[in-house]
Amino acid sequence: MPDFPLSIWITLAGVLGLLVGSFLNVVILRLPARMAAAWRQEARDVLELQADAAPLPPGIVREPSHCPHCKHPLSARDNIPLFGWLLLRGRCRYCQAKISPQYPLVELLSGVLSAVIVWKFGPSWAALAGLALTWTLIALSGIDFRTQLLPDQLTLPLLWLGLLLSLLPMFVTAPASILAAAIGYLSLWSVYWAFKLLTGKEGMGHGDFKLLAALGAWMGPLSLLPIILLSSLIGALVGGTLIALRRHERQIPMPFGPFLAAAGWVWFVAGAELLQGYMQLTGLR
Ligand SMILES: [Zn+2]
Repeated sequence: MPDFPLSIWITLAGVLGLLVGSFLNVVILRLPARMAAAWRQEARDVLELQADAAPLPPGIVREPSHCPHCKHPLSARDNIPLFGWLLLRGRCRYCQAKISPQYPLVELLSGVLSAVIVWKFGPSWAALAGLALTWTLIALSGIDFRTQLLPDQLTLPLLWLGLLLSLLPMFVTAPASILAAAIGYLSLWSVYWAFKLLTGKEGMGHGDFKLLAALGAWMGPLSLLPIILLSSLIGALVGGTLIALRRHERQIPMPFGPFLAAAGWVWFVAGAELLQGYMQLTGLR
């Protein structure tokens, strides 16, 4: 690694995060569409129907960006993360249609969180792994918000990467990683079945089990309870605020994935500090 001061590394991480953020926007929009098309195809195969003639939705990497409203291809300057949207004041240059604030928000979030990761871990392999975790969690949250899905294509690689890093070990040892992945999955799985047997309703999806398993694989068994508590707290705060503002119907299920992801990320970056603060507050230490 070149011998830059940490501030340079943090800035570089922020810029990289912004750029990756615009790619995450594409993943958030296009991955669920690709999945839905694949499911339709499989269903037709199973039912022995003729293959769907409709073309597949655009791929994640190949299709260039265009305005979703007028389909006009975007120029390079309109595609600059965050600043492109700000310069256009949130409207398409060609048809004046509003551009979703999702684009700049995801880019900003990715930029800021990436900078925080490098501030925390310095220029290191741990920071690189932390960036991979951060970006995957942002993509998962965005997809869960939009579609109530946590795709296996993202949760399972995250789980595998956490397990593999424990072989070094990087953040936790291999026994801790494996144990926490299993406990993480089973704990939400049992909550799901208890809730379903008691109320007949489905409180969360299987993607949530896999996401908690992945977070456990990265952070070990001691992280699981704090992550659950923290995610419930964040979920209650956000849900309560939305219901109070009448922006969300009480009956519509709220995706749990974004809160799990947020809690997992916070614990990844500041778990030790939060635990110490809690113990001091309660007089345990
Ligand atoms: Zn347009």
